[in-house]
Parts: sequence; C-alpha cells; structure tokens
Amino acid sequence: MSLLVEKYGGTSVGSVERIRAVAENVAASAGQGHQVIVVVSAMSGETNRLLALADEVHKDPPAREIDVLVSTGEQVTIALLSMALDDIGVKARSYTGGQIRILTDDIHGRARIQSIDAAKVKSDLDKGRVVVIAGFQGVDSLNNITTLGRGGSDTTAVAMAAALNADECRIYTDVDGVYTTDPRIVPEARRLDRITFEEMLELSGAGAKVLQIRSVEFAGKYNVPLRVLSSFKPGPGTLITYEDKSMEQPLISGIACTLDEAKVTVRGVPDRPGIAYSILGAVSDAHVIVDMIVQNIGSDGMTDFTFTIPSTDLQKCIALLDPVVEQLGASEVVGDSDLAKISLVGVGMRSHAGIATTMFEALSEKGINIQMISTSEIKISVTIDKEYAELAVRTLHKTFDLEETTSVVV
Ligand code: ADP
Ligand code: ASP
Ligand code: MG
Repeated sequence: MSLLVEKYGGTSVGSVERIRAVAENVAASAGQGHQVIVVVSAMSGETNRLLALADEVHKDPPAREIDVLVSTGEQVTIALLSMALDDIGVKARSYTGGQIRILTDDIHGRARIQSIDAAKVKSDLDKGRVVVIAGFQGVDSLNNITTLGRGGSDTTAVAMAAALNADECRIYTDVDGVYTTDPRIVPEARRLDRITFEEMLELSGAGAKVLQIRSVEFAGKYNVPLRVLSSFKPGPGTLITYEDKSMEQPLISGIACTLDEAKVTVRGVPDRPGIAYSILGAVSDAHVIVDMIVQNIGSDGMTDFTFTIPSTDLQKCIALLDPVVEQLGASEVVGDSDLAKISLVGVGMRSHAGIATTMFEALSEKGINIQMISTSEIKISVTIDKEYAELAVRTLHKTFDLEETTSVVV
C-alpha cells in the first residue's frame, strides 16, 4: 500500500469551506487506497495576526513565548480538518508536533528538526486512520514548543515523508506548480513540469517562497519525491527531481526576488587579518544568517566591509556590531533595508558563458543600478534598489525568454 504525505498551506485552509474542500481531497486519496498523512498550516493570515498581538504586548517579545503563541494557529486547523474528515466518514486523528515528538534543536523561531517518532503515526495509519499533523512546530529536548521558521509546514511535510518513507510528498498551495518566477509579479510566468533539487534549492534560498528552503534540502538529502500542486484545481503540478543528464537543461529555469534583505556596511575598517572573522563571527554567534559578503579593496590601510542579512535582523545586527566597531577602530556601522535581491537560476548556466553579461546589460538598459553581485555555479544574484525590483524581474523574464502567453494563476 502506498503512503502519501499531503501538505495544505494557509490559503488552502483559509476558511471553513476551504477546509471542507481539503477534506474531500484527502478523502479522495484515501479512497484510492493510499495511506495518507496530512500536514496543515494555520489559516491564512493567522500567523501574522498572532505575531501582531505579541508586538502589542511587548516591544521585543521573548522568542520562547512567540513559539507558544504562533504554534496555536496550526492546532486550530488540525482539529477542524479532522472534524471535517469525520463528518464525511473518514477516520482521522490530529496531532501537534510535540505529540508525535517532532524533536528539534532549541533555536526558537528557526528550529531544525532532529528526529521524529514515526511509530505512533504508523500505528494510526495501520488502523486505517488519516493522520493530521500540525505543520511548522516541534519540541526541543526539554519539551519547549519550537517553530521552524516562516513557511515551515513544508519542512514538516517533507520530514514526515522522509521519516515514514512515503511514496510522494505533495505540497498543495494556491498556485498550480513552480513557475519561472512568482506568477503574482509576472502573469506571463510559465509553470515548470519539473525542476531539479539544486535549482529549487537556489530559488527557495533566493526568496521563491513556494517551498521553504529546508524542505528542499530535506527532500534532496532523503530522496523524497516532492511535488507542488494547486489545492484549487487538478493538474500535474511540478515535480522536484534529480538532474537527468540525458535531458537538455534549460539555460535559466527561474528568477527569484526578495524584498526582505538588508545591507550592513562597516566603514573605515583597518585592513588586516581577522577582520572578516571579528565582524561575521559576532553576527553568526547571534544566529543571524548572512548572505552576500563584499570586502572592498582597501586604500591607505582602510577598507569597507558589506554584507546582507534578513531585514528583520537589521536592528539587532547593528546593535551587536557597535562594540565590535569600537574594538576594531572602524569608523561606523550603517544599515540599509531598501534593498531587493534578484537571482537568476539554472543548471544550464554551468556550460554557458555570458549570462551575467546579458543580465547586467538588460538591467543597465532600464537604468537599474547594481549594488552587489554574487555568483554560484548555477545562480547569479544582484542587489538593487527595492523600488526597481518588479521592473528588474519583468525585464529579465523577457530577456531570457521565459514567458508564456497565457496566465495560469488561480
Ligand atoms: P502556502 O500558504 O500554500 O504555503 P505560500 O504563500 O507560502 O503558500 O507559497 C505560494 C506562493 O509562492 C505563491 O502564491 C506565489 O506568489 C509565490 N511564489 C514565489 N515564487 C514562485 C514561483 N517561482 N513559483 C510559484 N510560486 C511562487
Ligand atoms: N503558519 C506558518 C507561516 O505562516 C507556517 C506555514 O504556513 O508554513 O509561516
Ligand atoms: Mg508556504
């Protein structure tokens, strides 16, 4: 008997009608003889609503209590979905992350899954029940509730699929697959039938929120067949898969854009060994994720050191660098959050020269100034002024011929 993990995101469970529609979808899978584990998100808008409440009560709410708070969103949907399943005659049981021991580390708000107790879930499945699991949450070794970062229900789903060796992990969402770029920004974006783990990893890392990056890492590592589909209309969706060397690879598979990145510059740093370590060591000790890093060529023994971080961490990062700046004898640390990062991703880049030049030319023709550039084997990212983000994505989508004539957003 085959085992499916089906994950439904916030919009897909955003109302009672939607929860009933999801129950019908799950019932159809169970009716085809599959065992089914369902992972659900909170109803759309709920996580943001809870976070806003916390901000009203405290100017810097304790991370542990934020996790206790936001994990309740998913607890509502597991109960409602299990009831909706029961109502149409499907046996179901709901569990929070803690109840099935989704054990994580203790980094609140961005915890990483360490292990899952599969036995309990297996025994329910063997009794013919659908198991409904709250996404986005776990517990640490001391039983404190933790959450996995925004979009973390994707990771819960893939981790469940890996732990139980599922035949497929289906991520049902509000678009019918992975597109060449966010179809809400570029309506001409095209759905991809398949995309490699490597490309999806780069796109997720570069801001395509359709899959949380950790879920793609997990799926690649544990060989979980992963598919993105619409919960609103039938279709094949997009399969995330290993690279098939026999197929011709597209030059560019997709374009991603983030608006939530900030730039930190430490000015007038003495140009000597250990500088990068002193600055970035302090940042990583505070669990702030650094993306692009640029150290300019120094002059007169001084240099500037610039890097990008999530904009939510900007204030914290500047505060923690103040003493470092003083210690190093640097002149100042400044932040800028009016930044967008645009990334081109494609495995075909490996064997083609000149893609970066075409990208830079297209941006310059629109008068868009590039602030920072970084490249990997299959990705080129640039940071630009936030104001030009949409124009840049549209321009590059056209330049690299990624469009389709009809729009397919649901
Ligand atoms: P869910 O609530 O189901 O988890 P998300 O909002 O997290 O859904 O992710 C789906 C959204 O991801 C889409 O509505 C779309 O706007 C956005 N998105 C960004 N990049 C892409 C892309 N390349 N392909 C498809 N969707 C994308
Ligand atoms: N509810 C969480 C969020 O909004 C987790 C998720 O939806 O995947 O980020
Ligand atoms: Mg999501």
